[in-house]
Amino acid sequence: MPEKNASSFDIFGLMSEEKPEQVSPDEEKKKRRQELLQPTGVKEIFKDGKVSINKFTCVGVQCKYCVKACPTNALYWSNGEVGIIEDLCVYCGACVLNCMVDDCIKVERTRKEGTVEKFSKPRDVIALVNKVNAKKRGDRVKGIFPSAESYCTKCCGPNFYEDFKRKADK
Ligand code: SF4
Ligand code: SF4
Repeated sequence: MPEKNASSFDIFGLMSEEKPEQVSPDEEKKKRRQELLQPTGVKEIFKDGKVSINKFTCVGVQCKYCVKACPTNALYWSNGEVGIIEDLCVYCGACVLNCMVDDCIKVERTRKEGTVEKFSKPRDVIALVNKVNAKKRGDRVKGIFPSAESYCTKCCGPNFYEDFKRKADK
């Protein structure tokens, strides 16, 4: 029997009428990113995003803080400048938070529900984190006390809210 070599054709594949599974570029990108991110243990939270570094304002040779802060190794130092592996970026903002130059690194990201967030300064990241945390706290409180009435009833007893309303209406 003749041995198979590298130039052999997949004759059965060529005869098949089945079309290869169509995968959209977005799905392909998502799959590639999942495979690359899997060893880092970092999960994707955002639907989409972009990151850029202004190489003219970067003082990388003195700091490289962004490279050290990046949780996925999306940033690296090569040939005297910071490089980006875009497929590894999860748009977390750790690089912006650690950069010593305002507006040097720019991150734009879209949340799953469609909210777009942009930041390029450490204080932008801190403000955003505070806003997100405040919303989470608010949502948690709403989950436990959906209304002012339920809050008063749970905290101060069943008659408190009615008494309070009666006094307020007077
Ligand atoms: S932290 Fe900012 S200044 Fe430092 S290397 Fe990164 S981009 Fe350049
Ligand atoms: S946004 Fe996060 S994941 Fe992307 S390059 Fe900056 S630190 Fe790395």
